[in-house]
Amino acid sequence: MAKIIAFFNQAGGVAKTSLTMNIGYQLSLLQQRVLLVDLDPQASLTIFMGLESHELVSIIADSLLDEDIPLPIHRGLHRMDLVPANIDLSAVEIQLSSVMARETRLQQALAGELDNYDFILIDCPPSLGILSILALTAATHVLVPVQTHFKAFKGVELLLDTIAKVKKRINPSLGIAGFVPTLYTNASQDRQILAALQEQVSSLATVFPPIPRATAFADAAMSLQPLAVYSPRHPAIATLEKIALSLEKLNV
Ligand code: ADP
Ligand code: MG
Repeated sequence: MAKIIAFFNQAGGVAKTSLTMNIGYQLSLLQQRVLLVDLDPQASLTIFMGLESHELVSIIADSLLDEDIPLPIHRGLHRMDLVPANIDLSAVEIQLSSVMARETRLQQALAGELDNYDFILIDCPPSLGILSILALTAATHVLVPVQTHFKAFKGVELLLDTIAKVKKRINPSLGIAGFVPTLYTNASQDRQILAALQEQVSSLATVFPPIPRATAFADAAMSLQPLAVYSPRHPAIATLEKIALSLEKLNV
């Protein structure tokens, strides 16, 4: 049975997509079968994985709206498979409004793939809208990237509130796989925010070591490669691997 991990934070630019791709790649190196699901209409993951999002014939939205349409799975991209997105996904919120039990549409769409993968990683959009709710409903666990920055830190409470609501009303077994401090620099503000984050959430779940702000991440994304392919000796890879090993140990 696949573990389904939602990479969730309603803020944009906190490294959700970058982590989804890079942690997925580390899991693949651990011989895990990995499916990535792009649930963001901006389609950054689809683009980082090397697909031309505007040329796609079928995207995740088609399977969300019509249960008879199989998931469009692109196979063997950097040792992983991918269900892509494009801007058409932005219409799903309105289109789903008349669908019965719409919160469970992603869960249903993934049901047939649970035996084919060890991990399904969902890259959430930067919002608390229906797409993020679909992801949290389908997920066995949520992994929360948090930028070590004052503004991002303030959003954590709202994010925890959303997770708690989904747990209470729709997905009682949803677990928190951990918090990943991201875009970390050694500036005193970052160090203070990291300490405050640890204090606020370490009773809820693991706070992983911070992922540093490093241009290599952006450069790797621009060259459409995981960091570990683009720059195999980069020091941040050890942290990515540590997170992947921790996800491997989660129970479903
Ligand atoms: P999100 O999905 O949360 O919006 P992204 O993963 O797209 O965030 O990251 C936002 C931008 O920051 C991207 O251009 C990405 O390449 C870059 N980025 C991600 N992680 C890092 C990092 N550790 N250091 C520097 N830049 C990063
Ligand atoms: Mg993103």
